[in-house]
Amino acid sequence: MPTNTYDAIIIGAGHNGLVTAAYLAKAGYKVLVLERREIVGGCCITEELWPSV
Ligand SMILES: Cc1cc2nc3c(=O)[nH]c(=O)nc-3n(C[C@H](O)[C@H](O)[C@H](O)COP(=O)(O)OP(=O)(O)OC[C@H]3O[C@@H](n4cnc5c(N)ncnc54)[C@H](O)[C@@H]3O)c2cc1C
Repeated sequence: MPTNTYDAIIIGAGHNGLVTAAYLAKAGYKVLVLERREIVGGCCITEELWPSV
């Protein structure tokens, strides 16, 4: 039975959120990362941010 409790919830999967989540998880905390987009990385992504500009 899955539980919906977490030690930390990170809002936004930019590189700062991902690094923070990784450190917390490595330290043994149960972490949930929520990202509004379909791709993680925030500004550090390989997709074109402003196409045709
Ligand atoms: C045009 C531009 C050029 C830049 N160039 C450089 C550069 O050359 N060198 C450099 O060091 N820095 C640069 N920066 C700054 C750098 O991009 C930011 O400092 C860095 O991306 C911040 O990372 P972050 O993880 O804190 O946030 P972000 O990368 O902004 O990630 C935030 C994430 O949170 C998500 N999010 C936001 N609100 C919600 C919500 N309510 N629910 C769920 N998810 C949410 C977003 O979708 C996003 O994925 C630039 C910034 C801009 C705008």
